Amino acid sequence: SDSGLIVSFGEMLIDFVPTVSGVSLAEAPGFLKAPGGAPANVAIAVTRLGGKAAFVGKLGDDEFGHMLAGILKENGVNGDGINFDQGARTALAFVTLRADGDREFMFYRNPSADMLLKPEELNLELIRSAKAFHYGSISLIVEPCRSAHLKAMEVAKDAGALLSYDPNLRLPLWPSAEEARVQIMSIWDKAEVIKVSDVELEFLTGSDKIDDESALSLWHPNLKLLLVTLGEKGCRYYTKHFKGSVDAFHVKTVDTTGAGDSFVGALLTKVVDDHSILEDEARLREVLKFANACGAITTTKKGAIPALPTETEVLSLLDA
Ligand code: ADP
Repeated sequence: SDSGLIVSFGEMLIDFVPTVSGVSLAEAPGFLKAPGGAPANVAIAVTRLGGKAAFVGKLGDDEFGHMLAGILKENGVNGDGINFDQGARTALAFVTLRADGDREFMFYRNPSADMLLKPEELNLELIRSAKAFHYGSISLIVEPCRSAHLKAMEVAKDAGALLSYDPNLRLPLWPSAEEARVQIMSIWDKAEVIKVSDVELEFLTGSDKIDDESALSLWHPNLKLLLVTLGEKGCRYYTKHFKGSVDAFHVKTVDTTGAGDSFVGALLTKVVDDHSILEDEARLREVLKFANACGAITTTKKGAIPALPTETEVLSLLDA
């Protein structure tokens, strides 16, 4: 396609999901391998909608790392920014929703390959060709990938890319909640588009109110668009000149994994070639309706990547 390149930076890993729901990890009779990692999900969300995407990050030079690189390739994501670490292994996560309703996590990260990307390993030519550059915050947790993240952001910005940030809080990965808050906010004022969930809004503001006042307390002068996603309640949007909300679609939800990544991928696909949409409320609302539809469809199937919709699927929900 002729659309501008969206480069997504960060982690990619494998989630091991119990084959039976409502059990603890120790009781699981078996696991399904689900490729994940928010930045990788976003890249695939873009290509599935017909946009152009590249993933920048590090994988282990092992069976899992090559499996993940293959999934990106199969989905048409440019892999020229992928490095393979010769020592560390690909990150693995074991996640289950137990019968008591609590989520239980276990991670293979000591450290995993994704955390070992070095600034000098970045494919700068690829990053400079980005029209939009998207990232999360997990890559800020430790060095050297923190420095790689900061450098990639700077290079993309200097080359004129639209910077897009979804902090995508994964509290169990951080040494402490305070550290997570400090690091997430340390790059806050660089991004022009920021998407937070209602849970992240509460976490970052320290208030249990989800309203305009709490959202706008996160506003900064470089921002063009702040989005708060609210699951089945849709999303709220804030710009310098207007604010409002767009309702969600009613669907049969089976697994919400990846809904936020699908939403962000859709938004970036629609604005990458025309940033002026961010200043035009009517057009922005159309784009957010499209992004809500993508998020909704993603919740109707298990897993993140297998559930990301094509443009045809989205249009049929919009026409329904
Ligand atoms: P995150 O995955 O980052 O927590 P959300 O769960 O809020 O983000 O999902 C992102 C978007 O996906 C929402 O704004 C909404 O449009 C859509 N979505 C998520 N969950 C549902 C749902 N249960 N029903 C319909 N749409 C949903």
